[in-house]
Amino acid sequence: MGFMRKPFVAGNWKMNTDSLSSVELVKAIASASSEIAGHSVHVAVCPPFVYLQSVVNVLSTSSIAVGAQDIYYERKGAFTGEISSSMLKDIGCTYALCGHSERRHVIGETDELINKKIAATILGGLLPIFCVGELIEERKASRTEEVVTRQVKNGLAGLSAEKVSAVTVAYEPVWAIGTGLTATPQQAQEAHALIRELLGQMYDTKLAQEIRILYGGSVKPDNAVELMREQDIDGLLVGGASLKADDFVAIIQAAT
Ligand code: PEP
Repeated sequence: MGFMRKPFVAGNWKMNTDSLSSVELVKAIASASSEIAGHSVHVAVCPPFVYLQSVVNVLSTSSIAVGAQDIYYERKGAFTGEISSSMLKDIGCTYALCGHSERRHVIGETDELINKKIAATILGGLLPIFCVGELIEERKASRTEEVVTRQVKNGLAGLSAEKVSAVTVAYEPVWAIGTGLTATPQQAQEAHALIRELLGQMYDTKLAQEIRILYGGSVKPDNAVELMREQDIDGLLVGGASLKADDFVAIIQAAT
């Protein structure tokens, strides 16, 4: 291959930590990973909204980036309770998760809403981490390909190749998230290859080869290496294990 996709490890803290522990966690991650992060691997953490600013402040001299767990697609105005991409950019965020499975399946977000969020994330100056993945009943019914294809096509609908080059895709089979059940490296590779092929059809091969596709779903220090060995797995989106500095740093190490 004529280029390298730099590995990317992102931690999704979900609705966890508090004002003290968020700062302590990110300090521990930054000091333990200072040798590796930034050189051979991109690293990001996604704390809850209310702790973003203090985490950004702690990381001011670090190469670790900060992401939000969600955004709203309007830029400003009468949208009580919502936060825009440009506001997140303003306080020092770099990334935003879009379409995380908990937002799809617990909160009820649709492909159409996620599509608006991805477009708005880019417009506001952030880089989207666009999550897709099938439910267990969909996998059992051999519908994984159909579901992931629909999510990718609808999620990126109307976006130019230039915009899409800002996107990181995360394949997260819903049955593997927070369950301790990890997709096998082969299952994950199969889905990643499918997504890359689809991006090649929707845009072009060069773009498809350059886009990073992360795997997420019960990633732990002891399965990170074998997942990262797969050709189309360019990084990891980590939930539970990103709340323990030692585990998260071990996963960063595994991604190098
Ligand atoms: C996630 O939140 O995106 C995730 C993959 O969670 P976990 O690692 O806990 O399965």
